[in-house]
Amino acid sequence: MALGFAKGRDLKIDNQMERISRTNDMTSQLQKFDKRSARDMLVGAGLRPTRQRLSLAELLFAKGDRHVSAERLHEEAEKVNVSVSLATVYNTLHQFTEAGLLREVAVEGTKTYFDTNVSDHYHFYMEEEGKVVDIPGGLHVSELPEVPDDMEITRVDVVVRLRQKQN
Ligand SMILES: [Zn+2]
Repeated sequence: MALGFAKGRDLKIDNQMERISRTNDMTSQLQKFDKRSARDMLVGAGLRPTRQRLSLAELLFAKGDRHVSAERLHEEAEKVNVSVSLATVYNTLHQFTEAGLLREVAVEGTKTYFDTNVSDHYHFYMEEEGKVVDIPGGLHVSELPEVPDDMEITRVDVVVRLRQKQN
């Protein structure tokens, strides 16, 4: 009997060395990310490069891989005198996500973080600090479940929640 999904298929995410070299690549690109890069990125993703989108894209992507909430990005915008409402920040983050520029990481019902790294990777959530970080070196997920014949897996999300040891 044919299986709709290869059983026990290994999904090997992030090899540590690849991740490190990718991070180095990101660092070397950082200095170059400016308004022009932001414009190219938006246009490439099919978004109209409005002034607000450009400012927010620049704030988001000029710092390399990171996980940011709408509230945090709104604060950062205010600090550099970019006049934008929290609602607009939310809308823009969702538009960027739909366009594939960001990946949403939902940690709890009320807390959503937007990840500037859209490649497959998994997260630690530091409960006390309310902080999301990438799991260094990735995580080996094996034995994915069988899915119905007419369905396919689009992504596997794993959030490993951490707190200080209790004793
Ligand atoms: Zn991440």
